[in-house]
Amino acid sequence: MQHLMNTYGRLPVSIARGEGPWVWDTEGRRYLDALTGIAVTGLGHAHPRVVAAIAEQAARVIHASNLYRIPEQERLADTLARVSGMDRAFFCNSGCEANEAAIKLARLHGHHRGIEQPVIVVMEKAFHGRTMATLSATGSRKVQAGFEPLLAGFARVPYGERAPLESLASRNGQVVAVLAEPIQGEGGIHIPDEGWLRFLRDLCDRQGWLLMLDEVQSGMGRTGRWFAHQHAGIVPDVMTLAKGLGNGVPIGACLARGHAAEVFTPGKHGSTFGGNPLVCAAAQATLDAIEQEQLMENATRMGGLIRAGLAQKLDGVAGVRQIRGKGLMIGIELDRPCGELVSHGLRAGLLINVTSETVVRLLPPLILQAAEAGLLVDTLAGLIRAFLQAEAAAPVAG
Ligand SMILES: *Cc1c(COP(=O)(O)O)cnc(C)c1O
Repeated sequence: MQHLMNTYGRLPVSIARGEGPWVWDTEGRRYLDALTGIAVTGLGHAHPRVVAAIAEQAARVIHASNLYRIPEQERLADTLARVSGMDRAFFCNSGCEANEAAIKLARLHGHHRGIEQPVIVVMEKAFHGRTMATLSATGSRKVQAGFEPLLAGFARVPYGERAPLESLASRNGQVVAVLAEPIQGEGGIHIPDEGWLRFLRDLCDRQGWLLMLDEVQSGMGRTGRWFAHQHAGIVPDVMTLAKGLGNGVPIGACLARGHAAEVFTPGKHGSTFGGNPLVCAAAQATLDAIEQEQLMENATRMGGLIRAGLAQKLDGVAGVRQIRGKGLMIGIELDRPCGELVSHGLRAGLLINVTSETVVRLLPPLILQAAEAGLLVDTLAGLIRAFLQAEAAAPVAG
């Protein structure tokens, strides 16, 4: 580890193998994976369709180059277009790269319209990645601190609100796009009210702005629909994907529709690895499995079970502020920092995460079954109760 850059505070566990919602560490201990590598392995581990697709594709050709036509990439773009209503896809290797593509697309679109200093509206508490453009778009000082000067050309407003956006529209003629997560993930599983995405769609239509949705975490069936914005019955102009798209192989995508889909022309953007045959075969198998195994329906059912179970078991427990979520994107907000619950979970054989200091985040695989959901609820409710009681019993420092 001394030869690794010190970018992560790592837990003292190594995962040796996985199967479905379970993983085993190098000591042979088993864990229920309620995090899926942060919304990545939505089909669970070692899903037979993905394993077969990767093995078959690897034996044929792993990498060709975007200098040639790539049939696996064209087929994946067709499938994504069908399930999203978007027209064209650009493939890259991660979420931040997908957002970089969206940011470049919006700027180029602005320049085409004679706007020389295009501005993209972004949200407080947003997370869009760690590259210079995407950390500038991110709404977290922690992510940005030390990397100034940040990229110019972003205007920030509170998430889920209407008036600040209206006011910006009346003041700023340089705005070309809004970039937002339909549900904020890293920010703490924040779900805007029902009509907010429709409000954004209307506002963007009225102003001639592009509506760009970052579905990197909320997409790929996690919330019970292919994409979280589909619950609101709208279609964005640009959407970014990564995380769950390839069930663990690194693939991202920036999808665009209508005018926005025609902005890039040869030479304006690219990626050496982006959309290579291997990752596209894995992503195609992932999409096929989500559809054919009815995993979105399952995500809705299991998410309902987990939220209802937690609500019942944590009912009246002081310190539990709110249990919220959609499908299998679930947050339990406590009234205090609770990062240590992650290691309590490890000891109890459960992989979870804490984000935004006070929010326990669950991102279980879409293949979860009721018995596993029950085990997750029982284990986690016990851990949270014990944590809050131990805190209450501890003598006050000072
Ligand atoms: C994780 C995440 C990203 C960044 O993805 P990387 O693959 O880590 O670059 C961007 N947006 C959202 C909403 C995310 O959750």
